Amino acid sequence: MSGHEIDDLFQRIDGQGDVLGTLTADLVRIPTINPPGDAYEACAHFLGDRLAARGFDVEYLRAEGALGDSDRYPRTNVVARIEGDGPGPCVHFNSHIDVVAPGEGWTVDPFAGLVRDGRVYGRGTCDMKGGLAASVVAVEAMLESGIPFPGAIEISGTVDEESGGYAGVAWLAERGHFSKPRVDHVIIPEPLYKDSVCLGHRGVWWAEIEIRGRIAHGSMPFLGVSAIRGMAAFLEKVEHELYPRLAERRTAMPVIPDAARQSTLNFNSIHGGLDEQDLTSGFPSALVADRCRVVLDRRYLMEEDEAEVRAEVVEILDRLSAERDEFEYALRELWSVPPTLTEPDSPLVRALDRNIERVLGTPSRHVASPGTYDQKHVWRVGKLKDCVAYGPGILELAHQPDEYIDIDDMVASAKVMAAAALDLLRGSE
Ligand SMILES: [Zn+2]
Repeated sequence: MSGHEIDDLFQRIDGQGDVLGTLTADLVRIPTINPPGDAYEACAHFLGDRLAARGFDVEYLRAEGALGDSDRYPRTNVVARIEGDGPGPCVHFNSHIDVVAPGEGWTVDPFAGLVRDGRVYGRGTCDMKGGLAASVVAVEAMLESGIPFPGAIEISGTVDEESGGYAGVAWLAERGHFSKPRVDHVIIPEPLYKDSVCLGHRGVWWAEIEIRGRIAHGSMPFLGVSAIRGMAAFLEKVEHELYPRLAERRTAMPVIPDAARQSTLNFNSIHGGLDEQDLTSGFPSALVADRCRVVLDRRYLMEEDEAEVRAEVVEILDRLSAERDEFEYALRELWSVPPTLTEPDSPLVRALDRNIERVLGTPSRHVASPGTYDQKHVWRVGKLKDCVAYGPGILELAHQPDEYIDIDDMVASAKVMAAAALDLLRGSE
């Protein structure tokens, strides 16, 4: 690209601060809360209408029959595509349109789309309607600049990322929307900082473990087997044996924040004995708990494999079976995702690196996400490895009260997105 072309493109985007603020605010005012998956249809059409008016071919793809889809809560995705001049690669910008529930602690209305002091406030501004707006404005500016490019650009708004993405990116990927030859490079504008390219994420292994005991009268616990005591024995071994081992397993993956640059384990929930009871509605009965369950959430590294992750939990449980009388357990695997990490010298990463440095004047940083996002489906289902997250939001603000996005950050990342897309389409280094 000539210096003149790029200057003109960047000047256009510099003038789009108000447009970015307004577009983000408009998106926030469509409360696409998930669960249950509200207002997807309205949000998909808002985005589709805007892109259709700029010459895109727009498709609305409802994941009929997918998990969560119903006439009350249709899982409607939107995919918009615009062709360049002649054959060439396709650069795809994918954003999820769903947001998590606002929760407590807000000092502003989470769905008013308040713009104040250069920021847009509201649920989903950072994660990730601001990133979506940046990609839309980046592509609009590219088209308006008249810089010729071969190939095609796609922008999608997809559902359910916050609940796994099965009616969104996974569903579209199963239908060829995230595979070659249709798409070559995928940029997901998740909130991972305007100066950073997110190459991937750690793996996930979720399992429910149930300890089984034997019921008896609570006044004679020796006649039963307490599942809660069995669970306590398991938790103690995890605490004293597994946690220290996990903390030692550091990864070469550039996971942020630094404390997540290792294996981690979280207990999502624990339930044992009778259902939790409000003492005002009666007294619990005296029983030895015959069931106790935990759901554990293990995040693992590319240096580990899923079979080992599972085996080290099973080993503890088997040892307890040998050590304790009548210790019985059942392990049910709930969900797993392998770690992903795009090659740092792939064309997509190099194009983003080069343009981050050009726009911000500082070298790009490579990071990996502590949690998963839709990249997993692009990799696993679409078999497309040239996929990263790059977007303007600040990761720590995601899912928090008073979530916001800086308009200047959206401007900067829109420039990076536009210039990187042009480099990829035109094959310039
Ligand atoms: Zn997100």
